[in-house]
Amino acid sequence: MFDGIKGVGPKTKELLMKIGINNINDLINYYPYRYNLIMRSDLRNTCDEEIVMVDGIIDSKPSVSFFGKMKRINLRLNVGYMLINVYIYNQLFLLKKLEVGTFITVRGRFNLTNNSITVNEVRFGQLDDKPKLEGAYHLVSGINRKSLIKLIDNALLSMREYDSDIPDYLEERYKFINKKDAINEIHHPSDKSNLKNAIVRLKYEELFIYMLRILYLKNKNLIVDDSIKRDIKLSDLNGLIDKIGFSLTTDQNVAINDILNDMNSGKRMNRLIQGDVGSGKTIVSFIALYINYLSHYQGALMAPTEILARQHYNNAVKLFDGMGVKIALLTASVKGRERDRLIEEIKNNEVDLIIGTHSLIQEKIIYHNLGLVVTDEQHRFGVNQRMSLFNKGIHPDILSMSATPIPRTFALTIYGDMDVTNIKTKPIGRIEVKTLVKLENEMTDVLKIMFTELKLGHQIYVVSPLIEEGEESNDGRESVVKLSEKMNKAFGKLYKIGILHGKLSNDEKKEIMENFEAGRINILISTTVIEVGVDVKNASMIVIFDADSFGLSTIHQLRGRVGRGDILSTCILITKKKTERLEILERSSDGFEISEYDFKTRGSGDLFGVRQSGVSYFKIADLRTDYRILMQARDDAQDFLSHSVNIDKYLKIKEKLDKVNEIT
Ligand code: ADP
Ligand code: MG
Repeated sequence: MFDGIKGVGPKTKELLMKIGINNINDLINYYPYRYNLIMRSDLRNTCDEEIVMVDGIIDSKPSVSFFGKMKRINLRLNVGYMLINVYIYNQLFLLKKLEVGTFITVRGRFNLTNNSITVNEVRFGQLDDKPKLEGAYHLVSGINRKSLIKLIDNALLSMREYDSDIPDYLEERYKFINKKDAINEIHHPSDKSNLKNAIVRLKYEELFIYMLRILYLKNKNLIVDDSIKRDIKLSDLNGLIDKIGFSLTTDQNVAINDILNDMNSGKRMNRLIQGDVGSGKTIVSFIALYINYLSHYQGALMAPTEILARQHYNNAVKLFDGMGVKIALLTASVKGRERDRLIEEIKNNEVDLIIGTHSLIQEKIIYHNLGLVVTDEQHRFGVNQRMSLFNKGIHPDILSMSATPIPRTFALTIYGDMDVTNIKTKPIGRIEVKTLVKLENEMTDVLKIMFTELKLGHQIYVVSPLIEEGEESNDGRESVVKLSEKMNKAFGKLYKIGILHGKLSNDEKKEIMENFEAGRINILISTTVIEVGVDVKNASMIVIFDADSFGLSTIHQLRGRVGRGDILSTCILITKKKTERLEILERSSDGFEISEYDFKTRGSGDLFGVRQSGVSYFKIADLRTDYRILMQARDDAQDFLSHSVNIDKYLKIKEKLDKVNEIT
């Protein structure tokens, strides 16, 4: 813990823990989030309202004024060439130290007309003549900057040696400054260029060890003794491919080839198929499951929602009809005796393909010989869930699919342990979804466009962020309930309207979806539960209310619900005011470009839940800007693992790696 460093009593310890500092190492690695240039301002050349920093001698006995609850110290400071009024709010405890004749330094906002500074920070003593950089730290109330620095300095003093995670030959190759200097420099920068070198070194180190770990894990998972042996030829698949009813796109064929090679290779497959909504990933996964079936193993297909699981099940039943594949659907709605029977059948190898939600791996389902697990919409499951199968001691091939295209840097880190195939070509004949941003007061327009679609016999999705009014906020966002009233008023006489949201029971959801698929519902109003996967070809329009409250990638996914057949489809985004963000969607249908934009402007929070956000994982590296360092670190880590150039060093790092079973 904090043994051997001064100044860490139980109270401080508690405070430090609040900002994630649990031991000496955390303390040393608690880096500034920004650097300020500490430099004496010249008030003779300062504009009104500028933030300044000056030092001087207290010239008058400070007085105190009261403004309601606020208390203000007023004093006059002699800065050498002029006298200036200094106002310090709510720090009365300073009063007794602010004696006439004392040197102090103040930082704050300059007011030209009053010739005053309203102070943010008071320090005792003078400024150095030489400008210097100073780190700004995230603080917790109870520990100020000065005491934090003191703790860090004490921790630095107590460090006998600094463990570098960079192998020596790489330290030399890049002429990195050594670890100790780098850490010192981070907390006490000597100048701009030294600081930069320190930052680069620490970023590289962080990314190198991360990539080493993830690549190591990848190799470890690949090499298992009981790997699955298969010998399937492309031509064995012809029977199935002939049944599909359309010809596969180039990238679908590439994906199938990659998968076949992986599955025949004798190493374990861990592949991610990344492809925009509508690019046709499902059929690829069905072919993988068929390869698995032909080699006499059981297969499982996991979907993030029941709706999607059921849809996959229906499609699989159709596609595999007459081919001997025994298929079962296992979701939370399969209960009681039926469930027990199904679980028994799985155990006895009476079922070849099990389709369901993630309960497929969470529950105590015993497979007879599970050979392949496909997870659809991979990003919904999370890295840890992916690992939980491995930890159970089953070693099937893993195929993951994701329709959330993620920026490359991000993919490398969170999916770094997988091989990736991208499906970029869209099925031919696919017409791009026309996207329009509309203001709330243009509703009449929107209703007219909707009416035109309905008259053509097409179906419409309407999406809202909320189920009921006031559910999360009262900021006037449209709820599903309110929207359904509106839609009923406009279309209720002529068309059937259905409502779908997460609070409905599974049976209710199932019924609504079946009615929509069968065309018995014309307008489906829903929350984002329809976000993933659902495939209804006759739906040609999606209207998204309060579009600005969604991440761009989410909207892009939602938009993918339409344009699935060969009819011209429209996506209408309704918003209070037009923004550049939403306009990106009007002109781009490239999921990668869209996610890149959201990632750069809003961080990764919109792409994934907090736990998966790689951004917050790193102490100093920032995936949005450190792409080049990341690529270098990845290449070097790969090289290092394949050559084990410096075996001692490797063993030392390996020791650490062996403790890692999960990527967190
Ligand atoms: P996603 O990649 O979003 O999961 P799906 O697999 O659901 O997309 O495919 C979207 C639709 O496109 C489905 O109706 C599917 O049958 C169809 N499809 C897939 N591949 C092709 C193809 N090569 N040619 C024509 N239609 C295709
Ligand atoms: Mg899909």
